[in-house]
Amino acid sequence: MLDYHIHLWPHGRRDTVPTVEELAAYCARAAEAGVTEIALTEHLFRFVQADALLHGFWADDPDAGLRASMAQYWDDHARADLDRYVSCVLEAKAAGLPVVLGLEVDYYRDRMGEVAALLAGYPFDVLLGSVHWVGASWRFDDLGDPLSMAQWSSRTVEGAWDDYTTALEELAASGTCDVLAHPDLIKVTGRRPGEPEEFWDRMAEAAAASGMAAEVSSAGWRKPAAEAYPAPPLLARFAARGVPFTTASDAHGLPGVAERAGDLVDLLRDAGVATLRAYRGRVPTEVPIAQEAGRR
Ligand SMILES: [Zn+2]
Ligand SMILES: [Zn+2]
Repeated sequence: MLDYHIHLWPHGRRDTVPTVEELAAYCARAAEAGVTEIALTEHLFRFVQADALLHGFWADDPDAGLRASMAQYWDDHARADLDRYVSCVLEAKAAGLPVVLGLEVDYYRDRMGEVAALLAGYPFDVLLGSVHWVGASWRFDDLGDPLSMAQWSSRTVEGAWDDYTTALEELAASGTCDVLAHPDLIKVTGRRPGEPEEFWDRMAEAAAASGMAAEVSSAGWRKPAAEAYPAPPLLARFAARGVPFTTASDAHGLPGVAERAGDLVDLLRDAGVATLRAYRGRVPTEVPIAQEAGRR
C-alpha cells in the first residue's frame, strides 16, 4: 500500500524547512496503517522558484476580483525553497526511509514547457498533475475563500465541469506529470451535473491517452463531496481502459498521513484492481495492493 500524495505544510504562510526527523515521523505514521512507501508531494506553488517562473500567470483572467485574489494567494504561498525541500527528501531516502521525492504540479495553461524545464533540473521520482483552478484564477476548491465560492453561483455546474475537464485534458496531453491527482476534484463542493457520464468518459480517455496513472484519494471523504476521488463510476472507467492507479491521503500534516488507507483498498478491490503503481526516477513499477492496510 502506498500514500503517494503528502504535504508538509498546511495552506498559508507556515513553510518551515523540512527535516529528516519530520519525514521519519511521517513514515512511522504510514507504517502503522500498513502503508509501506510514501511520496512527498508539496505544491509547486509553495516555492520561490515557481514564483520566479510563473508570477502573474493570472494576468489574463478577465475578472479583476479573481485576479487580485490569486495574486494574494500566490504571495501567501510562494515562500519556500525548492532546493532545500529536495535535498531534505533525498537525505531521508539516503537514510533508508521509505519515501520518494515528488511534487504536486498545477496546470498552467501555455506554460507547461517552462514548468517541465524547471522540474527537469531535479531528481524527482513522481510528479502529480492537478487542476486547482479554472480559467487563470478561479480557485473552485478553495472552500475557505468567499470570493471563490461565490463564483459557483454565477456559473452553471455543467460549465464548471466542462472547463475543469478541458484543463485536465490539456494537462494530461502536456506530458509533464505522471499521475492525475484527485481526478474529479471539481465535485469538491458536492455540486454534480445531472449527467456526469460525458465528463467521466473524457477524464478517463485523457488519462488513458497520456499513459498517466489515476490517483485514488481519501481526501474527498473529508470535503462536502463526501466521496473519495474518483467517484466509483469514474474509477471503473479508468480500470476498464487499463489506467494504473496510485493511492493517496493528500495529508497536509502528520495526522492525515495514510488516512482511510483501508477504505481505498476496498474501492480498488471493488473495481477489480489488484496492483498499484510506484515510481522511481519517474519510471513506473507495479506493486501489489497490500492485504493488511490499516483502518482507523
Ligand atoms: Zn491538490
Ligand atoms: Zn495535494
